[in-house]
Amino acid sequence: MTDCFQSRAPLLEVDGLSVDYGLKGVLSRAIDGVSFVLRAGQSVALVGESGSGKTTTAMAVAGLLSPNARFSSGEVRYRGNRLPIDNDAGMRPHRWSETSVVFQGAMNALNPVHRIVKQIAEPCIMKLGMSRGEAAARARELLELVGIPSDRGAAYPHELSGGMRQRVMIAMALACRPSIIIGDEPTTALDVITQAQILKLLAELRSQLNLALILITHDLSVVVECCDRVMIMYAGRIVEDGTVAQIFDKPKHPYTRLLIESIPNPASGKRIIRSIPGDPPNLVNRPSGCAFHPRCPSAMAVCTTEIPRLDTVGGERVACHLHRSLALDDKVAAHA
Ligand code: SF4
Repeated sequence: MTDCFQSRAPLLEVDGLSVDYGLKGVLSRAIDGVSFVLRAGQSVALVGESGSGKTTTAMAVAGLLSPNARFSSGEVRYRGNRLPIDNDAGMRPHRWSETSVVFQGAMNALNPVHRIVKQIAEPCIMKLGMSRGEAAARARELLELVGIPSDRGAAYPHELSGGMRQRVMIAMALACRPSIIIGDEPTTALDVITQAQILKLLAELRSQLNLALILITHDLSVVVECCDRVMIMYAGRIVEDGTVAQIFDKPKHPYTRLLIESIPNPASGKRIIRSIPGDPPNLVNRPSGCAFHPRCPSAMAVCTTEIPRLDTVGGERVACHLHRSLALDDKVAAHA
């Protein structure tokens, strides 16, 4: 990956992570051999359709998977130390203080019967051992940081607009001074103007606090606003991983290309938005070979039998047989 973060030490290393979900005795593989590195200050978007594995990947890192999740292989390291991701109690000290999450739908995530200052102060008391007075002062400071006047801290969630509630969620996520923020579709329920304001706020906080950001989204247009890098996921695997410029200017994977073509572009004058044919794969009975082959306009015979490897091609990673010979060229050049 050729970006300005390359020289910094890894903050987070996800190495060959595979997670299954058990349901009524049947196991389905939600993510399969996911590997990536995240550095301080870097922002990466996890993009894909429902069931692509983006939320499972991010929640595995945060130690917030549902009880029916099973880690079948791989590990996650934070600042070089292995995280006990398969141990709920072991992950408790890491949650919120190293990695925290801004959930979508703030109205559901906030407690309707408590004032917002109390809700932001709570993790400061529990995790940082602050007194009630210190925690309330920290909560008011955080409200100002996310653009809410501190005297609004006495409000209940229903007294705030959707955008302000989402700002409160961001303040709560920052309470224990984490170095990684995960945004789980943080702007999904908001109108476009408020969405732009929240994305701008996330981008500003990231640079001000040197935060790393993992943004989960199915909306590629959101990515351009606040990410350096994009990882496209399909059927639980990363299929393309590059900088925003690489992904948008010259997407290599056919799925990425189709995702980009499905973004509405009023400037183009086209009235028809292209959709991706077919349905996302059934993870209990996934297609053989490349899981995208039943929907891929470029599929070849090899695609039905052989799973493409995630290879480095021209400075980014891509998993597609169309690029296999270029990946081999890159390998030879690297060893020359
Ligand atoms: Fe399409 Fe084959 Fe590439 Fe899969 S490996 S994306 S089916 S060309």
